[in-house]
Amino acid sequence: MDVVIVGAGLAGLTLARRLCREGVRAVLVEREDAVGGLARSFSYANGATFDIGPHRFHTEDPAVLAFVNEVLGDNSLRIRRNSELFLFDQYLPWPLNWKSVLALPPQFLAAAACDLLRPRKARTESLEDYIVEKYGRTLYKIFFQPYTERFLDYECANLHRDWAITGIDRATIDRRFDSSSIGGVIRSTLFPPAGTTEFIYPETGGIGSFAELLAADILRHGGRILLSDEPERFLTAGGAVTGVVTRQGAEIPADHVFWTGNLQSLRTLGDAPEAVPRLHFISTVLFNYVTGHRAGRDFQWCYFGERDMKISRICLPRNFSPSNTPAGREALCVEMSCPEGSSLWRDPARWDCVVETFLLKARLLDSLDSVDSYHVEWIRDTYPVYVLNYRRKLQGMLDWVHGKWPNLSMLGRTARFWYNNMDHSIAASLRAADLFLEDHRAGRHRDGGHYEAEDRFFKGTAP
Ligand SMILES: Cc1cc2nc3c(=O)[nH]c(=O)nc-3n(C[C@H](O)[C@H](O)[C@H](O)COP(=O)(O)OP(=O)(O)OC[C@H]3O[C@@H](n4cnc5c(N)ncnc54)[C@H](O)[C@@H]3O)c2cc1C
Repeated sequence: MDVVIVGAGLAGLTLARRLCREGVRAVLVEREDAVGGLARSFSYANGATFDIGPHRFHTEDPAVLAFVNEVLGDNSLRIRRNSELFLFDQYLPWPLNWKSVLALPPQFLAAAACDLLRPRKARTESLEDYIVEKYGRTLYKIFFQPYTERFLDYECANLHRDWAITGIDRATIDRRFDSSSIGGVIRSTLFPPAGTTEFIYPETGGIGSFAELLAADILRHGGRILLSDEPERFLTAGGAVTGVVTRQGAEIPADHVFWTGNLQSLRTLGDAPEAVPRLHFISTVLFNYVTGHRAGRDFQWCYFGERDMKISRICLPRNFSPSNTPAGREALCVEMSCPEGSSLWRDPARWDCVVETFLLKARLLDSLDSVDSYHVEWIRDTYPVYVLNYRRKLQGMLDWVHGKWPNLSMLGRTARFWYNNMDHSIAASLRAADLFLEDHRAGRHRDGGHYEAEDRFFKGTAP
């Protein structure tokens, strides 16, 4: 049985590891020059290691936890969440709690209290209506609206509430603390939950070390990984894919294809008619700074929400693992989201002055002379953009792919247009591997959709 897996992020790697260990011939094709996808890391000659923004593991799924622990072995730390929000020139706790709300200037505090007394029911599925119903118009205007509109380059009225449901859920993670509405914030403050939520993070090598361990295991078990390459065309017989020809000229036989790569590339490969919907991702430019000035904050990441702020989030890799940052230095990962092809994407050097002025304003840098160096990284397809009608478009796209290639399955964040976390991609691939291996042993082979094992989009929230 020959299987081609497109994309060597955590979804592709997890699946390939399981299949190779059971004797299936699996070839991974990855367009970047390294494995890991959104969960890869960059290590520079200055001794610093940066992830793509913040990356820490948390799961309530025992199978995923066992898998992560087995792969990481001893190279594993337990860290406590520490995230913040920078608003009105102060660092406040995130997820929202009473300290964040009480820190609002009095006129906003009074307005937020009025919102609570006069809740407004959502009339549409828009992100705007959802946030206003949950948190009130004041907090929407102060934080959620400017943050989201800058981040996604869309007005909140044109975005679907799934962005908020999945995004706020992800940012919160600690399910014992209810920050899903202003009422929940107050309840959790009056009756605080017991205990703390811990996250798993590699002691050395950044989050990317997890993907590298998976890749080493795949190679040990006879799998192949083609880097800096991507499918150029499919060979087909009777509609089914029988092989994949790559840009670098490899011709790989395929009884089944698992696609974890960009969904749009499938449109091109299949020469889709105009009627097949287009879906869009937003990408991210990272400015990875090393400075001689300790930022003096303990957060792992901080959101910057106000309207005039160009930066959406900053992480301090030292607060994930001390080994990420050279002794006596500080490392700062500054995230700016943008469409591919925008002026920021094409020429980030024009923006470094904006970033550095911002670091001074946020008191994360004492002087421009403290900057030792910075590296820019261009990360494609970091977030699916959930416009108001995205569910219809996504369904149209998935239906077209299933109809076109019966033996192709779409898995993971980028292929399912799924605003998910690492543990969700791992869980979906473990499940797909189980279903596929069960059929393989029984000599059966079913349609691609059978192995996809996810239907969360249409439920609107992650489990
Ligand atoms: C800034 C940021 C912070 C995050 N923080 C966290 C966190 O703290 N905790 C957490 O659990 N999760 C976090 N996540 C989410 C997590 O990174 C993803 O859920 C997970 O890595 C997705 O893995 P995947 O394999 O499904 O998708 P991806 O990582 O997107 O992998 C897809 C792979 O396919 C490749 N590819 C795409 N198109 C093609 C093509 N045509 N041909 C060949 N290859 C192709 C891509 O290069 C990529 O390697 C974060 C994500 C981002 C962007």
